[in-house]
Amino acid sequence: MKVGPLSLRIALVAHDQKKDDMVAFAQEHVEFLSQCSLVATGTTGQRIADACPELSVRRMKSGPLGGDQQIGALISEGEVDMLIFFVDPLTPMPHDVDVKALTRLATLYDIPLAQNRSTAEAILFAQANA
Ligand code: PGA
Repeated sequence: MKVGPLSLRIALVAHDQKKDDMVAFAQEHVEFLSQCSLVATGTTGQRIADACPELSVRRMKSGPLGGDQQIGALISEGEVDMLIFFVDPLTPMPHDVDVKALTRLATLYDIPLAQNRSTAEAILFAQANA
């Protein structure tokens, strides 16, 4: 089901090595994102809010402290329409099980899931032109 940007609820998560990418992505698409409802893990959300003061970002706990699971819970409640999760494929994560659980829920509940920037760009382009 397609929804307009005004009602789109987007979850944003980026691993440490990908946070600069996420900030650049948010800056590039700030106009679109400002029309969406945004939720993020703690540090990702703080970085986005610092770089884009015009964006209102609901911040959950930091990912390794449960933030990934909180966002997974929102997905399972039907409160997230899209997950943009910039993963770092080169660094072992202490919370790898949480990362897997989050992507699993996005797959299970059939919401668009972008794990890198080019996919996120493609999804936003599709939404903007829907
Ligand atoms: P963070 O969490 O935004 O709090 O760094 C992201 C993660 O590593 O899952």
